[in-house]
Amino acid sequence: MMELGKAAAYSEFGSDVFSDAEMARRLPAELYIALHRTIEEGSELTYDVAGAVATAMLEWATEHGATHYTHWFQPMTGATAEKRDTFIDFAGLDRMPILSFSAKALIKGEADGSSFPSGGLRATFEARGYTTWDCMSPAFLKRNSDGTKCLCIPTAFCSFSGEALDEKTPLLRSMEAINHQALRVLRLLGDTKTRRVTPTVGGEQEYFLVDKRAFHKRKDLVYTGRTLFGAPPAKGQELSDQYYAATPEPVMAFMHELNDALWRMGVPCKTEHNEVAPSQYELAPLFVSANLAVDHNQIIMETMRRTAERHGLTCLLHEKPFAGVNGSGKHNNWSLLTDTGVNLLKPGKDEAGSRVFFTFLMAVIAAVDEYAPMLRMSSATIGNENRLGGEEAPPPIISVYLGNYLQSELERIAGGGSVAAHTGEMMHIGVSTLAEIKRDDTDRNRTSPFAFTGNKFEFRMVGSSQSLGMPNTVLNTIVAESLSRMADALEAADDRESAWGAMMAEQYAAHSRVLFNGNNYDAAWTAEAARRGLPAIDNTVDAVEVYGSEQARAVLNRHGVLSDHESLARREIALQNYATQGHIEAVTMVKIARQTILPACARYSGVLADAAAASKQAGVAAPAQTAMLRDLNRRMNDCRGAADALDEAMRRQIPETAFEQAVLHRDELRPRMEKLRAAVDALECIVDKAYWPLPSYGEMLFRIV
Ligand code: ADP
Ligand code: MG
Repeated sequence: MMELGKAAAYSEFGSDVFSDAEMARRLPAELYIALHRTIEEGSELTYDVAGAVATAMLEWATEHGATHYTHWFQPMTGATAEKRDTFIDFAGLDRMPILSFSAKALIKGEADGSSFPSGGLRATFEARGYTTWDCMSPAFLKRNSDGTKCLCIPTAFCSFSGEALDEKTPLLRSMEAINHQALRVLRLLGDTKTRRVTPTVGGEQEYFLVDKRAFHKRKDLVYTGRTLFGAPPAKGQELSDQYYAATPEPVMAFMHELNDALWRMGVPCKTEHNEVAPSQYELAPLFVSANLAVDHNQIIMETMRRTAERHGLTCLLHEKPFAGVNGSGKHNNWSLLTDTGVNLLKPGKDEAGSRVFFTFLMAVIAAVDEYAPMLRMSSATIGNENRLGGEEAPPPIISVYLGNYLQSELERIAGGGSVAAHTGEMMHIGVSTLAEIKRDDTDRNRTSPFAFTGNKFEFRMVGSSQSLGMPNTVLNTIVAESLSRMADALEAADDRESAWGAMMAEQYAAHSRVLFNGNNYDAAWTAEAARRGLPAIDNTVDAVEVYGSEQARAVLNRHGVLSDHESLARREIALQNYATQGHIEAVTMVKIARQTILPACARYSGVLADAAAASKQAGVAAPAQTAMLRDLNRRMNDCRGAADALDEAMRRQIPETAFEQAVLHRDELRPRMEKLRAAVDALECIVDKAYWPLPSYGEMLFRIV
């Protein structure tokens, strides 16, 4: 095997990370060992250890040219936050300037968090929020294009009373929960060696790149991240000539710089390719532990944005920047890995391994079936609402794809068939058949919101701009719940072997309704899913309401992931986000229609009117100009009416609660926004291009290809 450092292109990998190797080199041995005890066993971090780490970090960071440090955290805005400090301090009576970084500065920061969403967990006057170091995620350097560097310390963010105000805290709690329950099940299945089970995640990121100049001419993109207007171009993605096609040169240059920057920060980018829509691309990193993957994904999104700017491009991470072509998602590949190196969702090689595999497979299926609304909730954002169910993304119905072969094996075992008898042959066939299924059924497989892909599950519903935090928090928690019930059942039994069989049979009978190997985009599936009693939550407000449900609160509470209070706060924040972002979209539409579109149309109308009048004066009939003028004015009137109707609906008394505001947006504003869009898009199709004030879809989607 070749070492990473030996290949020139990769030699910078992780060079901007304060890595484990760096710590081993710089920390006294006993403190390094103590730190690892904290990281691996979750024991408490002492001030001695933190002090030594802080000193080593300061040394390393300043040697690498860093002048600032920041606690880097993930408030519930979907993005990251930072407040930078320099390492400068005064010491001694004569106040000598020195470089300093203490244990306290490393472990705990105070942020005036009053402007971050808290959903009522904190009144504004109780501004204090705390950030605490997540020692499982290494510190790294962020470079600016002017050469300055800032040491970023990944942290969790909570309130004065310890309530989670971020994406990371509940995620870490859920990782503890699933570790605990998975270990219980493993012990009951005879595993005595495993000491830790960690969820692993590989998050594939889809995105669009558009010309920066065009972006800035589109106020809808600037303010909302998506185009609120735009007639379809003559050509979209119908020819499938973009998917996996050769990437255009300017984008290759962007990707090259992106990879370099990400590798330096230790983000293991692996795969890049053109996606289905014109100007749409994807990047997939190698999988890592869930909390690190969430951090990596945030770093990826931020670095994409910054790098694009330097290439005269703008990176769009919105779920549906353009109507009529594919939107962007974030495929969340998820599995469970033991500290002994076993992937629990990889078909086992012997009887014991096989039993473990089928047990965990069943646990995931049961969790997804029972808690489908929570998975839907975890991917509910206003942007994703435009994408889910849009012919290119999974519909808002959650089902699990296993493939026919694996499903029939699971059914056989649930029916009492032996795990042992077929093991060798079955697993051999199992793996190769899976490969075959992937080859043959790729299209159908890709329509599933929750697909088993050989050694992991892929949750495809997550939106491209979202943090991966909540989807994985939910996934870990609901599977922990499933595993805990299995452990309870096995613990209570005298004869574990037969109890296992009974448990598998019972679980399969209760949850096989969620298994679906067919085409999820097919309208027949919607009807079939309804017949099976699977929930279909087609809008964000209903999906977000799940935070308040008895079922969600109970399971999040039981595993110590979110208290009741914290769940309700998240519901409030999600509703507020939906209503507020929706309001911004509506205001943007009205403004663009009134201040940009209609005036441009009026100018063009003047030209047509002059032309018609001039023709008439010259004694030449001008039926075409007259008809064009009439048509234009009729459509302008439609547009004005639609803008007025939307504006008027917004001006009616604004309801008090976030829930009512969200409902108002969903039921009153959105339908009016659609009408206004239709009116404007119809105008675009008949107005002289020279007069049309916005870059068209064609110009944006095909410019850099
Ligand atoms: P596929 O061909 O099924 O898309 P890949 O091997 O290309 O699978 O992986 C796609 C994504 O899934 C990558 O980000 C990869 O790191 C991730 N992945 C692979 N194995 C695992 C795993 N065991 N746990 C979590 N993510 C994984
Ligand atoms: Mg993909």
